[in-house]
Amino acid sequence: MSAVNTLSSNELMEMENQYGAHNYHPIPVVIAKGEGVHVWDVEGKQYYDFLSSYSAVNQGHCHPKIVQTLKDQAENLTLTSRAFYNDVLGVYEKFITEYFGFEKVLPMNTGAEAVETAIKVCRKWAYEKKGIARDQAKIIVCENNFHGRTTTIISFSNDPDNGNFGPYTAGFERIPYNDLEALKAALEDTNVAGFLVEPIQGEAGVMVPEEGYLKAASELCRSKNVLFIADEVQTGIARTGKLLAVDHENIRPDVLILGKAISGGVYPVSAVLADDHIMEVIRPGQHGSTFGGNPLGAKVAIAALEVIKDEKLAENAQKLGELFRERMNHMIEKTALVRLVRGKGLLNAIVINDSEDSSTAWDICVKLKDNGLLAKPTHGNIIRFAPPLVMTEEQLHECCDIIEKTILNWV
Ligand SMILES: *Cc1c(COP(=O)(O)O)cnc(C)c1O
Repeated sequence: MSAVNTLSSNELMEMENQYGAHNYHPIPVVIAKGEGVHVWDVEGKQYYDFLSSYSAVNQGHCHPKIVQTLKDQAENLTLTSRAFYNDVLGVYEKFITEYFGFEKVLPMNTGAEAVETAIKVCRKWAYEKKGIARDQAKIIVCENNFHGRTTTIISFSNDPDNGNFGPYTAGFERIPYNDLEALKAALEDTNVAGFLVEPIQGEAGVMVPEEGYLKAASELCRSKNVLFIADEVQTGIARTGKLLAVDHENIRPDVLILGKAISGGVYPVSAVLADDHIMEVIRPGQHGSTFGGNPLGAKVAIAALEVIKDEKLAENAQKLGELFRERMNHMIEKTALVRLVRGKGLLNAIVINDSEDSSTAWDICVKLKDNGLLAKPTHGNIIRFAPPLVMTEEQLHECCDIIEKTILNWV
């Protein structure tokens, strides 16, 4: 046994506490193994994972096909940088553009980097194609958005936890989410270059906009020659019951941002997709990343996206999502502790009947952990439920039993 495995959960948590920056507040469980919908802690206790690493492991933990692909490629070639060509990148670029129906891809590593890339592409397009005066381009974003953690991205977030990181980046305007009138008014400004939006706001607490909002928003953008930029880092890759959340309204964004489950959680891979007339504004030397488009990530992403289709994970998410909300609604009838359940596919949340700064949702998640299911509160009184999409109907019922038992026995 290696030294690290002889340490207890408590010792490992204490090490993180002592030596790591305190930029997260984890549920007190130390995971040592994952397989499919399950994870195991250091002491060997088994759990259902109902967070899926913020929807990065849609294909399930350590999916054998994805892991094998990683191993095979790792023995052959891992990184060339983009100073040279490699024998995987072009194959991956052809694969992913055909898969999502766009002419070009710009490969990056993390979600935040892909959002940054989309912002750069949008601004450059505004100056070189739309004819906005230099440095005047504006990007419209929504209240309570979450697009990542870089300095520019937090400049247009309104998370109160993001204080004291200024000075912030200019050029963004925030409007209420799910509000077409506000969008219409904001689009009157001829310096608007893009509208950056999450089809469902995941971090804000799984806020699902009204049916038709995204379609109408995309049409408003088109009528004003404004790029409709969909951040599907969390909602994409089958999570909501379709390959993309925008597919529920049959719309095609001008710019599509993907991350997280694009690699099945095996390796950091993100991507920005757009057609030539937009992506061609980026020329050599103007944007890049040492690891972006590396052969290891590219191979892994191909395998992870194949798994989505081979195993019909969108269809499974759609079916199990309906079942999940039905079970939760049934439970809600029997308790005053939970106010509602909302979501699409297997991206769902319950709202605890409580104030945002109370610790009830946290306490429920700790109790869920004791009962064998891992979830995490988002925005205080909301608990997000997002299991891997490889779950079976029987397993989902077992998970609903755990949630029900935990909630209905709450005192
Ligand atoms: C997670 C997330 C990001 C950021 O991705 P990272 O890989 O953590 O940088 C961006 N947008 C959305 C909608 C996300 O959920």
